[in-house]
Amino acid sequence: VKKIAVLTSGGDSQGMNAAVRAVVRSGLYFGLEVYGVQRGYQGLLNNDIFPMDLRSVGDIIHRGGTVLQSARCKEFRTLEGQQKGAQILRDRGIDGLIVIGGDGSYQGANKLSQQGINTMGLPGTIDNDISFTDHTIGFDTAVSVVVDAINKLRDTMSSHERSSIVEVMGRHCGDIALHAGLASGAETILVPEVEFNMDEVAERMKQNFAHGKRHSIIIVAEGVGKGEDVAAELVKRFPTNDPRVTVLGHIQRGGTPTAFDRNLASRLGDFAVRQLIEGQSDKACGIIKGELVATDINTVVSTKKPFNMDLYELALRLSQ
Ligand code: ATP
Repeated sequence: VKKIAVLTSGGDSQGMNAAVRAVVRSGLYFGLEVYGVQRGYQGLLNNDIFPMDLRSVGDIIHRGGTVLQSARCKEFRTLEGQQKGAQILRDRGIDGLIVIGGDGSYQGANKLSQQGINTMGLPGTIDNDISFTDHTIGFDTAVSVVVDAINKLRDTMSSHERSSIVEVMGRHCGDIALHAGLASGAETILVPEVEFNMDEVAERMKQNFAHGKRHSIIIVAEGVGKGEDVAAELVKRFPTNDPRVTVLGHIQRGGTPTAFDRNLASRLGDFAVRQLIEGQSDKACGIIKGELVATDINTVVSTKKPFNMDLYELALRLSQ
């Protein structure tokens, strides 16, 4: 490859900028021309593509969001859209594309590779729901945002001996709830991967208060249901408890990325460029036990990420 492009797609995540910076600077270092695509696949179809130099990614390593902006694009789901996108890249002489995004964005990259473009996917999503990588870019920051919010809630909840229900992101993957729950000492963690019984949740809470706890935190991944619904079910079983619900929403996707996410993004961005130079294509880049790995996109998108039951049980053991 001689000319490569980079785009960010789907929901944004903290650290996407650090990944873009790494792609641009590594690409230039290795003698490639590097282009940015504005607004994901939509920008590709609009030919919104511009050359990037060293300075174009200055002062972004610490910023949340994505300077390339993101979008969802229906047209790109069609074969005609994919052919058009590939032709636009070919017309500019661009033969490699690095896509930073989630599962859906990976599928788009896979389709482009079928049209003859060399592609690499980087896991940019806070949900940590991508298989063949231990961490996605943004996950660590999102967990920190949740833990920080729970610290604040704890202060006021213990003053009033109340329980707090915190709804966090994660439609199919409970990793944010799990990791933030462990880090903040939540008594109950409700995730889509583990079945639960509301009677047991309420009983556990009663026991905790009876044993002298002054507050109780229930963390609910959005894939399980709404925090308000969990509160209503709880009150039916434990009427003297007056839980307060906090929905953290999009603040989980914002803020300055942690050092972990910046370093992960830097390593993965550089790795993706080197993979393209080595002639690889249609791969998703990830990190497993500290090692950088590239796995076929098809394998990645068709494999559900396993849930860490050991960590889940640990969180419950430690929060008695
Ligand atoms: P997240 O889930 O973190 O928001 P994502 O990358 O999974 O990120 P999606 O909205 O699913 O987000 O996908 C982003 C874009 O990728 C879509 O708008 C579409 O343009 C493209 N895309 C998704 N699925 C496909 C597919 N099967 N074929 C081609 N393109 C796709």
